[in-house]
Formats: sequence, C-alpha cells, structure tokens
Amino acid sequence: MFRRRRLPRRLQFSFRPARATIPRVVSPGYRAGATASIRNGTQHVSPEGLLPAKQTDVPGRNALSLEKSSAIIIRQADFSESSRVVTLYTREFGKVAALAKGAKRLKGPFEAALDLLAVCEVVFIRKSSSSLDLLTEAKLQQRFKPRPGELGALYAGYYIAELLESLNEDYDPHPVLFDEAVLALTRLTDNSPLDTSLLRFELVILREIGQLPMFDECAECGEPIGSSLRYGYQVSHGTLICQKCFGDEPPRCLVTPGTAAVMRAFSSVSDSSLKNLVVSPAQMRELRLVVNSTIAQILGRKPKTLRYLPL
Ligand SMILES: [Zn+2]
Repeated sequence: MFRRRRLPRRLQFSFRPARATIPRVVSPGYRAGATASIRNGTQHVSPEGLLPAKQTDVPGRNALSLEKSSAIIIRQADFSESSRVVTLYTREFGKVAALAKGAKRLKGPFEAALDLLAVCEVVFIRKSSSSLDLLTEAKLQQRFKPRPGELGALYAGYYIAELLESLNEDYDPHPVLFDEAVLALTRLTDNSPLDTSLLRFELVILREIGQLPMFDECAECGEPIGSSLRYGYQVSHGTLICQKCFGDEPPRCLVTPGTAAVMRAFSSVSDSSLKNLVVSPAQMRELRLVVNSTIAQILGRKPKTLRYLPL
C-alpha cells in the first residue's frame, strides 16, 4: 500500500488516473482497434475502430470477399463529385448496391459500362458490415439500345429496371429472373411485340418472387378453371373465384378461362411455345388488369414508370 500524494489544487483538474487495460469483447470475426479502407482493390488498415476481419481471422464469417458476377445496372445515384452508388441486379447474388468510385469521371475506371440497363461483368468487394459494397470492375457486355424513335421501348426498359429494383430483396438471387430480364431487354431492341415481351417478364418476376396469381381452380369451390364462363380475380389473395361462387357481387377484375390459359402459358418455365401463342386484344386487356393490380398490391403503389408505357 502506498498513499497517493495530494496534488496542489491548481493541478487537480488535469489529473487523470491511468486507464485500466480491460480486454475488449468483440464479436467473432471482428478485430478490435482497426479500420480498413479499400483503395484500388487493396485493403488498407488504419488503427481506429472496429471493422470486419480478414478472411484469415475467422474463415467464412463476416469477411470481406471479392465477388464476380454478370449484372444489369438498374439504378444510379450521385454520391460525391466523382462517385456514384449503382444498384446492380446480378445473376449470382441478386440485387446489390455498390459504391463506384470515379464513376462520374469522363475517363474513370468504368468508362461507359455503368449506363442504365447495360449488362456487364462486374467485380465487387462484398462488405460484411452495413456499409456499401465496393464496385472495382465493370466490363460492358451489352448496351441497352431501344429501337430508334420508340419511346415506348425506352420506358419499357425503365419499367423493367424499376420492377427488378422494387420487387427484389438485397442478396436474394434468381438466376432465371436475371436471364429473363436480359432476354426482355434484348426483345425491346428487336421487332418483338412490346406488350407480350413485358407480360412475359412481369409474370416470370411474379413467379420467381412467389407472387404469381393462382389460375388453376376456383379458390372457393375448387372446380378447375373452364367450368365457368367468367372468373373474378381476388387481388389480395392472387386467386380466381368462379361465377357461381361470387354470385351477384362480381369482383372488379374479371377474366375468361381463355385469359387464364394464356396467363398460365406466359408464366410457364419454358417460353419456347410463346411465339405461336395468339393473344386477343380482350385477353391482353384482362391480363394487364390482373398484372397491374397484382404488382400494385405487392408494392402498395403503382410502379412510377407504368403510366409512360403504351399498354
Ligand atoms: Zn367456385
């Protein structure tokens, strides 16, 4: 035991006892006392704070990892004078938001690969914390070039981007949906009909996210579709109800058995038979009402770009 020496009063305010060294408790996979930043694809470590550990610290957990994927650019937003945040719909990882440093510079590292709706091969660093992923490479594979003079095809492309952005969760991959989106964008640049091209894409995205309307039987009596002349579409359940079951109170959205058959064909896994499928104007109107009301029900609003479409 030794007695602490009393300091003169004028010095007492500045006296601070030495801090005891207490072992810091950190989550597995995180290193205490270090921050990392990524410049030009290299990890730099600085001595403050907490950041994800290197992969060697705790393998497979909370690690920074370099990922490669095919991607469609579905959204861009300015981040700083030279950088952008881009939202990618990737084939292998689903929707990913990443910081693209230098993307606004004329001779930046990505050149023109980050144009809206361009299809690229990208490399990005996936962060394990809540911070944005970092885009390090983007190589252009296919530029979106809608038919010249056709604003409808241009807006249809924007609509596809909006649906991919708003109907998907981050890091929820659907490779089939990615392939279908690339196919739909290609169809907007050739002579494919715009209405059926979009309808196919809309039904595939609804199928992939598990929100495709069930058009096989009446949701009330279970009779297969075809026994009634008309069916009412119950938007909140995504089901059909036959004339006998809805009685005197028909739902707002009515469809014929023929329309239900067309919808089943358009949402099927293979689209090889779609070229030979003839859709009447009346069936297309019913299908538009079904699809528009289903998407609005899921989003809680109409897609912003929908009103610009010539449908
Ligand atoms: Zn029924």
